[in-house]
Amino acid sequence: MINLENTSLLKDKAYINGDWVKAKNSHTFEVTNPFNQEKLADVADLEVEDIPLVVDTANHAFQEWKNKTVAERASILRKWYELQLENAEDLAKILTAEQGKPLAEALGEIKYGASFVEWFAEEARRVYGDVIPGHGEDKRIVVIKQPIGVVVAITPWNFPNAMITRKVAPALAAGCSVIIKPSEETPLSALALAVLAEQAGIPKGVFNIITTTNASKVGQVLTDSPIIKKLSFTGSTAVGKQLMRQSADTVKKVSLELGGNAPFIVFDDADLEDAVQGAIASKYRNAGQTCVCANRIYVQDGIYEAFVDKFTKQVRLLKVGNGLDEGVEIGPLINSKAVSKVNHLIDDALSKGGKIILGAKSESKPNTLYPPVIISGATSEMKLAHEEIFGPVAPIFKFETDEEVIKAANNTEYGLASYFYGNNMKRIWKVAESLEYGMVGINTGMISTAVAPFGGIKESGNGREGSKYGMDDFLEIKYLCFGGVV
Ligand code: ADP
Repeated sequence: MINLENTSLLKDKAYINGDWVKAKNSHTFEVTNPFNQEKLADVADLEVEDIPLVVDTANHAFQEWKNKTVAERASILRKWYELQLENAEDLAKILTAEQGKPLAEALGEIKYGASFVEWFAEEARRVYGDVIPGHGEDKRIVVIKQPIGVVVAITPWNFPNAMITRKVAPALAAGCSVIIKPSEETPLSALALAVLAEQAGIPKGVFNIITTTNASKVGQVLTDSPIIKKLSFTGSTAVGKQLMRQSADTVKKVSLELGGNAPFIVFDDADLEDAVQGAIASKYRNAGQTCVCANRIYVQDGIYEAFVDKFTKQVRLLKVGNGLDEGVEIGPLINSKAVSKVNHLIDDALSKGGKIILGAKSESKPNTLYPPVIISGATSEMKLAHEEIFGPVAPIFKFETDEEVIKAANNTEYGLASYFYGNNMKRIWKVAESLEYGMVGINTGMISTAVAPFGGIKESGNGREGSKYGMDDFLEIKYLCFGGVV
């Protein structure tokens, strides 16, 4: 069980219209700890028949929430932010228990997640419009921005807290109401946020959580609903595309944060120690289970041996184990399916000439721990050059020229995060401009922050989360044309 100071944070019902509710058919599903499969809770498993109530509720609540002053909305969000920080240790324990990441990393996610609420509490006050010089002597033009309406947020298990706050904070700040469907692997972090939302004074119906294992059927009902005006999704590319197609009939505004295939490039003139640290941070965070994790590490021939040697020595020291134990740096993978996928990618790489220089394939039993693996001699023929690994495997590719590595780095349908290390100023600009990615880390492996626009291009998605741009996805622009002003 999870040992909490504030036991009220642990909920097992859905949160609709300010009430904690069971499924109409009383079905539940088990949430387990991925480290030891211990049962953590039996959570309400909502069905299609439960959804109309939440949609109506959110629509009703929107009508009042949008009319509150921004000062009122901002102060409620600020309160929610403060409660998240006050309860950070407990929220982190819940997160580690259901997701597996080390407790220190979970605490980092809680603070990162809360930072979006703080940021958008402040941004709420800056939803400015425009006054545009008119196109006729009697014309005056004013642009106003209004909340788009009821928003659905569908979120994944790899950041059970921050993917919710990153969507919900700008939506609420803009004046929208939200329906959140967290991953069935990690609903407890979402429900804990609802406890604090209620305490912060977010009105009934403005913030709702649907817990369900019937994602595709429920997703269809939500995308079919003309009441819902906006879908914000973070998850796999395949599901994102499907939701985009489903949203076409009601022409919903859709934001998608999908898969990535991040290149991590180390040029000859890079600072070696920094590059190694950056690669470890980017590759092994969350056991490699993030969409911005380094997926392909390209190292220039002049620094190749030195990089591989130092990287291997340091990765070997990473402590793997139960995320709740002191000092653990890599927790378990989310489930045995994830272990099988990583094993499959390693098999494929070995059959195509790759060499394991650290670690080995993992047997997912008795748990899903997966000690880090490094593969040298990686090539573009291997599946791991094209698919998101989502595990602690670092394939290393050798390259000679800038042109060659830029071409290789861009040779993917994905375009989320990319990274490179080097010191030549001209090269830094050229490479940064040439990488076809929404985000480029230059001499850093950590790029996520509430103050910058997170998002991808190509098949990694659209829309931006965080920063001053993050609010745009939840607003409609309306222009008022005044005539006869003579
Ligand atoms: P992952 O492989 O990371 O679990 P998914 O895209 O399968 O990524 O899941 C991300 C989120 O999308 C989860 O909340 C999941 O329940 C939800 N989901 C999965 N399939 C569908 C679907 N067909 N319609 C709506 N939501 C879905």
